[in-house]
Amino acid sequence: MSGEKKVSSPDYPLLGRKVLEASGNDAGCKLSHGLYIVATPIGHMGDITLRALTVLAQADVIACEDTRTSGVLLHAFGIRKPTLSCHDHNEDARVVDMTRRIRDGEAVALISDAGMPAIADPGFKIVRACRDAGLPVTVIPGANAALTALAGSGLPTDRFLFAGFLPPKSAARRTELAALKTAEATLMFYESPARLAPGLADMAEILGAARQAVVARELTKFYEETRRGTLGELAAFYAENSVKGEVVILVERGGGESVPADIDALLRARLGAMSVRDAVAEVAAMTGIAKKQIYARALALESA
Ligand code: SAM
Repeated sequence: MSGEKKVSSPDYPLLGRKVLEASGNDAGCKLSHGLYIVATPIGHMGDITLRALTVLAQADVIACEDTRTSGVLLHAFGIRKPTLSCHDHNEDARVVDMTRRIRDGEAVALISDAGMPAIADPGFKIVRACRDAGLPVTVIPGANAALTALAGSGLPTDRFLFAGFLPPKSAARRTELAALKTAEATLMFYESPARLAPGLADMAEILGAARQAVVARELTKFYEETRRGTLGELAAFYAENSVKGEVVILVERGGGESVPADIDALLRARLGAMSVRDAVAEVAAMTGIAKKQIYARALALESA
């Protein structure tokens, strides 16, 4: 478990407003036309960047995933700009409107409810449309939940695979997990608190109960918590302890495990009755283990 000591903290919105005042807010400053992808905090208001504040203050219009949610942030920092909504259900129509505005010379900023737009949030379609049309795209980097969790997890950071949200239904979730089982990278998932326990149970069963994992909850917020253990331990813990808030799950890579003994039994049962290739394909589909690994085992059994 971890969490920053909560001592009295500066009034970040006040500091932000002072920064904008000191820089003349938007008076006389005009951004060049284009799309500005602006990261916003995932909890802690102090994680807005100076550049995010100034770009938002100078944009002609701010496209928000939810205008009410972003309205709170913009109001806190004293940013008064026209907003429009851009969410999963209207992004196609908004692409037309936003690219037209940019062609007409406007600076259009895009923010999501939290973190980096386009990462498990709307943004990809408008970015692609702008790139396809040769319109300028600028990213103002900042907070992102997956990378924040990874950096503080103690799991290997040299290679990672962001898998976003797994399917809500267990059967589809297990199929997706089987496809990720042998990825030689730290796996990163977003999850809702309600699906944390069933998700971890499926991960323990499909990825392996002994794998190290981390649940990072409420990052940068008051109840921030990072819990580390094996998938089996975490599944058991969260089956007994329901949680609130936002959650990232990280799972240590699994590519290095030795082949379990029952793989040999599964292969032996097939090798006499079908080709090596078919036997390997069947066992790989059943276990989720990479074909390459099973093929090596099949050859070892054949030559024994
Ligand atoms: N665009 C965002 C980003 O850059 O991280 C992600 C948006 S996605 C719709 C929301 C999910 O991100 C949550 O369900 C949770 O899995 C994760 N998340 C967002 N904020 C978080 C936080 N403060 N702590 C832990 N997870 C968080």
